[in-house]
Amino acid sequence: MSRRMVIAGNWKMNKTPSETRAFIREFAPLAAGAEHEVLLCVPAIDILPAVEAARGTNIQIGAENMYYEESGAYTGEISPDMLTDAGATHVIIGHSERREYFAETNETVNKKVLKALEHGLIPVVCCGETLTQREQGITVDWIRQQIKIAFLGVSADEAKKTIIAYEPIWAIGTGKVATSEQAEEVCGAIRALIAEIYDAETADAIRILYGGSVKPSNAAELFTQPDIDGGLVGGASLKTDFKDIIFWK
Ligand code: PEP
Repeated sequence: MSRRMVIAGNWKMNKTPSETRAFIREFAPLAAGAEHEVLLCVPAIDILPAVEAARGTNIQIGAENMYYEESGAYTGEISPDMLTDAGATHVIIGHSERREYFAETNETVNKKVLKALEHGLIPVVCCGETLTQREQGITVDWIRQQIKIAFLGVSADEAKKTIIAYEPIWAIGTGKVATSEQAEEVCGAIRALIAEIYDAETADAIRILYGGSVKPSNAAELFTQPDIDGGLVGGASLKTDFKDIIFWK
């Protein structure tokens, strides 16, 4: 099976609604005609202006987080209905910054993945190891545990639609990139795990992205690995040069 690549941006806590509108107006013509899926995951307040500015283009808009309850007394949180009503199609779940600064756990990640799928949102499930874990030689064990828990209760059909992003924490925002061998080793192990949990067909269908200091100069090397189906891009998605990652070949 040939999987369609996904090149996704993660804006983190950057850009105001007016900056969002201006960026997408300038960026959309540059991304037009891309062979890969193009996704921008933006702060909650930027979703509506982003969806409006991206209407009629090939740019899909996603959220960076979501709560796992439907509604109620959860001050400051955003619900799946709010995201779908605003026009978001995807949602990043369990980014390492959410795990580190906002106490997200494998269990909350699993609840969010299930809730996103229930609402037709495509989860972009993040996993990744610290430098210490890599040095301890437990990277693959750690990632397997994160993914196993994230996918508890997810059916094979739902898993096929889901996107996984492997993001070594030591490579996020640091300028340090995993070598293509390191990235492929883990993405291959994730695909093998999906085959173990589900079956070969599901493993073949699921898209697995690499994230961590991806830029135009290293995109081709990473994206030509057999188990890497695109990238989740932080810093480099904030400028219109992001088009050079989208058109990496
Ligand atoms: C990210 O935010 O998911 C990320 C990979 O960031 P950066 O590309 O800046 O390392």
